[in-house]
Amino acid sequence: MSRVELHRGYGHEVFRVWQTAGGPSPDRLIWPLFVVESPRAREPIPSMPGQFRWGVSRLREALDKPVAAGLRAVLLFGSLQGGKDPFGRKADADDAPVPRAIRALRTAYPDLVVIADVCLCSYTDHGHCGILTSEGHVDNDATVRRLAEVAVAYAAAGAHAVAPSDMMDNRVAAIRAALDAAGHRTTAILSYAAKFASCFYGPFRDAARSAPAFGDRRAYQLPPGGRELALRALERDVNEGADFVLVKPGLPYLDLVREAADRVPVPVLAYQVSGEYSMLLHAARAGAFELSTALHETLTAFHRAGARAVITYFAPQLVAEAAVRLAVRSEPGSHGGRRTPLNRLTTRRGRPLA
Ligand SMILES: [Zn+2]
Repeated sequence: MSRVELHRGYGHEVFRVWQTAGGPSPDRLIWPLFVVESPRAREPIPSMPGQFRWGVSRLREALDKPVAAGLRAVLLFGSLQGGKDPFGRKADADDAPVPRAIRALRTAYPDLVVIADVCLCSYTDHGHCGILTSEGHVDNDATVRRLAEVAVAYAAAGAHAVAPSDMMDNRVAAIRAALDAAGHRTTAILSYAAKFASCFYGPFRDAARSAPAFGDRRAYQLPPGGRELALRALERDVNEGADFVLVKPGLPYLDLVREAADRVPVPVLAYQVSGEYSMLLHAARAGAFELSTALHETLTAFHRAGARAVITYFAPQLVAEAAVRLAVRSEPGSHGGRRTPLNRLTTRRGRPLA
């Protein structure tokens, strides 16, 4: 195991915010983005209205407004139409979407935290998160070696953090060792430590084109009732060098966000996943509630449970609403003030989603 180093968990000012407890705010939001090979692409994702797969040369179209409004972090996923193979070689090829996007974003937005998801399911022809044995089972150790290569490539491209989402055993230690050996000691690891096998990932598989061609992921993602497994996975990943840990999905697993926050000595993040996005959006469109109000309630719930930051597809809308609020408060005669807690927002003037 590598020696424990704390600096990379608070080297960036956004990471320093995450090291401290607090309520909803723009610097605690992370927007997941899907990037594709075709540089000019802007493909709507049918199961996630308002979200797109982006070509690298159009990323500014996606990000200029949210970054100007206060978005501080993104999480990148690759999505391929072809060129998949059993080993996911396109994950870290030099011309692959994610390394290209990392380089483009680091140049375009010097202050934006760029986190790269590390997994193989978007790049393997069988759609599983790992390399398979001849019997069709995931080969844990071969997969871990491959994931470490991918993580090093993303760090070399400039990612502030890599986020392994595969759920193989002991990949955090392997990734940490590979990053250190390659000279990327300051690249942080955000581990999807407690990732449950969930129907709430359905729209994501559409977006990332990562549905398994056969079988499912229940042999490596956690069973939904597996509280003890989640706690062991969280503690193991921290011991192996994770700088941040993630609980996923979000709202149905808030009890584990709270337990993780109470037990592990690193910031716990939560992921409001694709199914939660679609559920909230469609409910609002059906008139069940007002979207903005519901979003702020979910964010408050995440932070009440102990999350230090939330990965959400609603991030652009939320930062836009916060910016509107800030502008209103900065007008002559108002109270002014730089930080705008999102949970105080009642405005409906935010940018529409779709
Ligand atoms: Zn995967």
